[in-house]
Amino acid sequence: MRFELPGQAASRGQALGRARVRMPHVLKVEKNRIPADAVTAELQRLHTALAATREEMSNLRKRLQGALAEEAGEFIELHALLLDDPELLRSLDTSIREELYTADYALRLQRDRLTGIFERMEDAYLKSRLDDLDYAIGRIHAHLHKHATETLSTTGDILVSDNVASAELAQLMAQGVIAVITASGSLLSHSAILARSLHLPLLIGTTGAIQRIHDGDVLIVDADNGLAIINPDASDLRRHRAKLKESARARRDLERLRDKPSRTRDGTDITLYANAESDEDIARAHALGAAGIGLYRTEFLFLQGDELPDEEEQYQRYRNIVLSMNGRPATIRTLDMGADKLHRNGPNPGNEKNPALGVRGIRLSMAHPKIFDTQLRAIIRASGYGPVRVLLPMISRREELVSARKRLRKITEQLRAEGHAVQDRLPLGTMIEVPAAAIAVHGLADIADFMSIGTNDLIQYLLATDRCNEALNKWHSPLHPGVLQLLRHVITVGKAHAKPVAVCGEIAGDPALTRLLLALGLTEFSLHPGNMLEVRKIIRDTDLNALSATTEKLLFAKDRAGIQRWLTAING
Ligand code: PEP
Ligand code: MG
Repeated sequence: MRFELPGQAASRGQALGRARVRMPHVLKVEKNRIPADAVTAELQRLHTALAATREEMSNLRKRLQGALAEEAGEFIELHALLLDDPELLRSLDTSIREELYTADYALRLQRDRLTGIFERMEDAYLKSRLDDLDYAIGRIHAHLHKHATETLSTTGDILVSDNVASAELAQLMAQGVIAVITASGSLLSHSAILARSLHLPLLIGTTGAIQRIHDGDVLIVDADNGLAIINPDASDLRRHRAKLKESARARRDLERLRDKPSRTRDGTDITLYANAESDEDIARAHALGAAGIGLYRTEFLFLQGDELPDEEEQYQRYRNIVLSMNGRPATIRTLDMGADKLHRNGPNPGNEKNPALGVRGIRLSMAHPKIFDTQLRAIIRASGYGPVRVLLPMISRREELVSARKRLRKITEQLRAEGHAVQDRLPLGTMIEVPAAAIAVHGLADIADFMSIGTNDLIQYLLATDRCNEALNKWHSPLHPGVLQLLRHVITVGKAHAKPVAVCGEIAGDPALTRLLLALGLTEFSLHPGNMLEVRKIIRDTDLNALSATTEKLLFAKDRAGIQRWLTAING
């Protein structure tokens, strides 16, 4: 029977495929025992499943290339660690041999034990990897039941799951999964950001998906309209085909804008920078005519290996970005480690009860001057190969910017004395993502060279809505008079000081909000390259003078409904 389930579009697109439902694995496992004479066979069953999982991982590693390999690297590493952990293997064997538990139940016991250890480790980084641990255990479990090919989706499958780990997304794409529907999830999670980067349609918050969708059901994911259609009928299929045709046509139209300026109808040039993490993002940014890289998040480079990257490794990476941009500026943000982005061997802010309000970003860098100086050295050295700008995350007070500026100057002089040909003066910018920094922005605008508003965090702190808490998706929104007034304030103060102001949070790449940001006076956007042409198209279709005449009305809106009415009138 046909039915629809609404969800939130975390990554847009259309897909038609078969449902592959992934039940929360371990919950289904009962405490069952085997007869004593079945021990050998049960051990054999377990070890065959472990071997199959190892092989699956190693095959995957071989198949992944480029950006996907980088993204999935950590995930595969975690699997490898787990599958070869002597303690895990011994405990599994003992449970089967001595307690006569089934391999499934033995696995569940070990999963519960490891979860307990992860949670007690006081290591926020490991805690954030529990989804990955669950997935790894789930793969062994699937092999125990020879469900490998069922649960490991193949081309044309749409994964229906409770949640999806960020590192798993790359693996799913490599296996041919064409879309993902999850019951939970948040628009600003790393999974959502990555899905957009991979162009994988992702519908989150689809309540009831696991219970109501069955393996093999035919599904249409209409992520553009936040909808899953289960067992679509003939008219759904016709509509889907029409939408595919329409989006292919729209893509072709957009492609024509590659070399066109981002200029409004009445002649104002808008600067579009790219947010880029992978080589692929950087290549696309260049090909789509981005004005430069507006945000390179260095923490993802730091989160990759076991050890923190040293000066040379960082320098090579930053220099590559600078060279790829071929004369356009590369804005490299210093480490925004902390909160949900922690390295197991990296600087540790301690056991924080509230890490989003803790020692993260510039605070952590200042507390670890060696790590900070190493990073600054690498960034400044890269500036010998093209224009580089340095961006500081989580600045909350003027003193931090003053102190970072001194450091930057001192290290630049040192490098010059060592004989490095570095840029004369690297522009130093600040993220505006802490409400106090936004309110008192006049104390930053006069000494910063540029500012970039991080709306992902600014909204989180301003509206008291954890950006990763799916229960708050409805509340974590820029459509709030307080958010708009603060954005307007920062942009106006920036202009008064003749300092460039960009927005680099996710809203900068949302075409539905392009005109809203233009109306607030924004002239610089930093967004994922995947959305660049769409945003450029809207800019080119906008009469900025006429739009600016409506700004007052927008700022007078008292609630979300009022802002929404303004948006509907403007976007049509
Ligand atoms: C932001 O906070 O909006 C931002 C761009 O930085 P991040 O998402 O890395 O915190
Ligand atoms: Mg931020």
